Amino acid sequence: MKQRIVILGGGESGVGAAILAKDKGFDVFLSDSGTLNPVHASTLRAEEIPFEEGGHTEQLILNASEVIKSPGIPPTAPLIVKLAQQGTPIISEIEFAGRYTDSKMVCITGSNGKTTTTELTCHILRAGGIDASVAGNVGRSLALQVAREPHDVYVVELSSFQLENMYDFRANIAMILNITPDHMDRYDYEMQNYIDAKFRIIRNMTAEDAFIFWQDDPVITRQLESVTSEAQFLPFAEHQEENTAAYIDAENDLIIGAENHPLKMPRADLALNGLHNLYNSMAAGLSAKLIGVRNEDIAHALADFEGVPHRLEPVAEINGVRWINDSKATNVNSCWYALESMPQSKSTVLILGGKDKGNDYSEILPLVESKVKAIVAMGLHNEKIMEFFEGKVPRLVSTDSLADAIKACQELSSEGDTVLLSPCCASFDLFSSYVDRGNKFKQAVNSLK
Ligand code: ADP
Repeated sequence: MKQRIVILGGGESGVGAAILAKDKGFDVFLSDSGTLNPVHASTLRAEEIPFEEGGHTEQLILNASEVIKSPGIPPTAPLIVKLAQQGTPIISEIEFAGRYTDSKMVCITGSNGKTTTTELTCHILRAGGIDASVAGNVGRSLALQVAREPHDVYVVELSSFQLENMYDFRANIAMILNITPDHMDRYDYEMQNYIDAKFRIIRNMTAEDAFIFWQDDPVITRQLESVTSEAQFLPFAEHQEENTAAYIDAENDLIIGAENHPLKMPRADLALNGLHNLYNSMAAGLSAKLIGVRNEDIAHALADFEGVPHRLEPVAEINGVRWINDSKATNVNSCWYALESMPQSKSTVLILGGKDKGNDYSEILPLVESKVKAIVAMGLHNEKIMEFFEGKVPRLVSTDSLADAIKACQELSSEGDTVLLSPCCASFDLFSSYVDRGNKFKQAVNSLK
């Protein structure tokens, strides 16, 4: 009898897993408690893969030999608890796809910077003539690509949720960019649970593999005191320390691959600005070097990368004012890095606001005090922002729509200033997603021209 694989969740990863499972000869069933995107539903029909939406039929699920769970479903969901109690293995789509490919896996996690570093790494590898493709949280699912459009190297963005259900998967190169509190509601408000999930990325690595991480991250370094791994460790840092593999030297040049024919290029040539993007560039460059991309190709690709939309994305310069879309900054830490990359003068008008995830704004206060001339709160519940920043910035304005926020920014900015949307919050009060917020912001700014 065929083994039965049940897939819970019919998003990009679930549908990809269903197709790979079908190709590998399993009896496949997909179940989603919500409504499937019509494109995914029609793909499943065309592939003749049985599925249900709008609820889970337990008798069609509890008989699975193995379950592939969407990362969005928490381990505490009643059905997941039931499956776990009866001993049904529950894995992630990445774990499943990893069984059917020998391609090289470059896996990237961290609290911030995953997508940027994933796209940048793939860009550099392709510049070096390597058949690379992005997967995981970005692009097409890994399972679908393994099934139908294989590549030599996958650059896989992994969230802590995906890592939770990975067991035997082996990364050839793993990166942890940084760890700051996020998604605490999913981890019983225990930071250690979140850290442990992130560190699952280095499970199963051998002496042939490499682990790239930020050497100055206190959370990562503390965890490394109790973690053993055979992988080669390649830390990056702004300044050279013991064993640092990528850093900025005394001439303000970026050095990558300190041990082995280092790449040296002026920091000013990097396409992406800001300290956070320096780290992302170091991590991406180190991985490309390990895979054998030539220094010239890495330097060229680090200089001509066009960036990822909604991450410190330049929108326009209008009457001498720069407008920047950093809609993806949905937590305080990412806004810190955005402000860090702003000019030293008090010339930034900062748009904050949206759905607060329990923010502590004191982390950005010193940067706000030195760089921000005005804050425009944009959201349905601005009280916390208004209260916290009262008396701490020269101007503080509350608005409840994008149009009013833009108008306020226009009034508050003058030639040489920067208007920065880096809201520290999720977008769900006024917008459907951070992409929707960023697109509407760009549209509104461009209509000012
Ligand atoms: P993720 O995929 O981890 O959410 P993104 O690349 O989408 O990360 O960037 C999300 C936000 O975090 C952006 O606003 C960006 O400016 C900020 N950011 C990017 N890289 C880093 C980093 N290395 N450290 C801290 N913040 C970062």
